[in-house]
Amino acid sequence: MSVPPSVERMSATAAGSPGAAAATQARPAAAVAPPRWTVDAVEALFALPFTELLHRAQATHREHHAPDTVQLSTLLSIKTGGCSEDCGYCPQAARYHTGVDNEALLAQDEVVAAARAAKAAGASRFCMGAAWRGPKERDLAPVLDMVRAVKAEGLETCCTLGMLKEGQAQALKDAGLDYYNHNLDTAPEFYGDIVTTRDYRDRLDTLERVREAGINVCCGGIVGMGETRRGRAGLIAQLANLDPYPESVPINHLVQVEGTPLHDRLGGEAALAPLEFVRTIAVARLTMPRAMVRLSAGRRELGDAVQALCFLAGANSIFYGERLLTTGNPDVDADRALLSALGLATA
Ligand code: SF4
Repeated sequence: MSVPPSVERMSATAAGSPGAAAATQARPAAAVAPPRWTVDAVEALFALPFTELLHRAQATHREHHAPDTVQLSTLLSIKTGGCSEDCGYCPQAARYHTGVDNEALLAQDEVVAAARAAKAAGASRFCMGAAWRGPKERDLAPVLDMVRAVKAEGLETCCTLGMLKEGQAQALKDAGLDYYNHNLDTAPEFYGDIVTTRDYRDRLDTLERVREAGINVCCGGIVGMGETRRGRAGLIAQLANLDPYPESVPINHLVQVEGTPLHDRLGGEAALAPLEFVRTIAVARLTMPRAMVRLSAGRRELGDAVQALCFLAGANSIFYGERLLTTGNPDVDADRALLSALGLATA
């Protein structure tokens, strides 16, 4: 997977490493492909009149997807809390006082029971999330067993375990993993305001390992963190310029949790207008036409009408089930009622 040129530049600067900067400068210009999407071009899509933007997004959506079908994924936290990272939005970081305890890895039979329940409720993909900077080797072995067991239940499998070292992506692939989630979170220029314990290049390295192992890439971000519209355009441009772009693009609307730095910074007030969230979905659809664009965290706060606009804008996947990793989600009955009211089938 090739790396967007803007990230190579940002990485060298952020690392403050003369060697890295020199390596970037020494690279022949011809070896760096121009990005398919400039931030300016993505920002211009955001600026379209709302009805024009939605019309274009819906037309693009219909070229590549059934317009009446939404894919359902269920997410289970297999290892909650106690994370060493400092993501400013996350209640699972050990350093923040959010009331989320450091729990042990779930037992395999608990995971399989949850997967069976998700399948019975209509989910086609089961995602297992662990609050780690990345899995240690002793952590990975039981997760590989979980992947095998969930796969044997006839579900697609997805994991989000943090950064992967050499060989770990291949081990997951060999166990039957279909998707690996690793979000870019935000635009490179804003990343240091949100996370300091790793940099953008680390994220891209894991995405490259996942891609090289032949696992589908699930990669998106979070909006409503106080970023500008240009910041949102920068995130979408980064995602759309991954080569190839992700098969699955979760777009999260920040749920501010008390005790996290972003809750302190934003005061619990939504930092993004609902229609701007809809625009973000539409721009993701236009720039990544074949991707599954997933409504993720923050759906409950959006309400039914805004979610309906998101489906019109090209969203075609949701997280389904009463909890995400640690925050609430619309309950299953409410989702069924909404999909039924909209005449949307599930896959
Ligand atoms: S988002 Fe993931 S890596 Fe960051 S603190 Fe939370 S659990 Fe850890």
